[in-house]
Amino acid sequence: MIKIRSLVKKYGNHIAVDNLTLDINENEVFGLLGSNGAGKTTTIHMLATLLKPSSGGATVNGYDIVCQPAKVRSSIGIVFQAPSSDDMLTGYENLQLHSMLYSIPRHTRKQRIDEVLNLVGLTERRHDQVKTYSGGMRRRLEIARGLLHKPKVMFLDEPTLGLDPASRETMWKYIQRLVREEKMTVILTTHYMEEADILCDRIGIIDKGRIVALDTPKGLKAGLGGDIIRIKTRNNPDKISQLDFVHKVEQNDGFLVISVNNAKRDLPMLLRHVDADIAEFASPTLNDVFIHLTGRNIKEEPEGGFAEKYAKYD
Ligand code: ATP
Repeated sequence: MIKIRSLVKKYGNHIAVDNLTLDINENEVFGLLGSNGAGKTTTIHMLATLLKPSSGGATVNGYDIVCQPAKVRSSIGIVFQAPSSDDMLTGYENLQLHSMLYSIPRHTRKQRIDEVLNLVGLTERRHDQVKTYSGGMRRRLEIARGLLHKPKVMFLDEPTLGLDPASRETMWKYIQRLVREEKMTVILTTHYMEEADILCDRIGIIDKGRIVALDTPKGLKAGLGGDIIRIKTRNNPDKISQLDFVHKVEQNDGFLVISVNNAKRDLPMLLRHVDADIAEFASPTLNDVFIHLTGRNIKEEPEGGFAEKYAKYD
């Protein structure tokens, strides 16, 4: 559905997108995951024909983003970071206005507006002014607007930025629904690890304008190799790193962080050699992957990753 070849965007001497080559499949949810300033928005804006590449190119739905911008635009819907619906109009009026701008035939207009309102769960509130909507509802109205002309591809730039956790989860449900019911290809940018993990079939981790990893969420996590065990102990870490099933031992926050192949199997063995006060284990999260690849924690992402508490020892 999207083919990107050696795409570059420079702002003066600054390279915002650096030689990006990538294919995105039909009906796939593809996530561009990266911290602030990584180049996610610039990439989406080039694919949506809002910015011209400095070099390289791409096709969307078979159309060239530089030579056939009108064809590309009729193939895509886009939801920007900043909402752009008219506050004073109702949700329905916003969609009516937009369907005229997109030349949706008069006889199908009402039916399509009803369909997209239903899809994003705004039927009940359709005759209320947008200024009375919550942040999540506004964002859903923007999605409805982007869907009116039945695009093949939907670009969602930070779809849940600024939403509270409950609205974020509601938004995820609607995004999953539009992929299922409208058979769309979705490209979303996010710097929320959990969002990328839950929604995306594949993730490209983007750092300083470059894709540094590309895989399914499961594949990315598996790429780190194995599990992590955290223990509190007075034993010497060197003694632990010499155990043959231990890959690596790091100190973090008063804990020893021990990389092993399989925490469930290896923890009992570890506890035969070590006096531990507290022991926990977890599979690596996307956050662990991000730190491993970029050397940094993604901004605004809470610390965590130790989902499963295994045992507590006095
Ligand atoms: P965010 O999550 O904050 O939106 P992002 O990953 O989308 O970040 P971009 O907005 O694509 O990142 O920006 C990539 C880089 O290009 C940043 O260093 C940014 O400062 C720079 N940049 C973006 N737009 C411009 C511009 N119009 N002029 C100059 N530099 C720009």
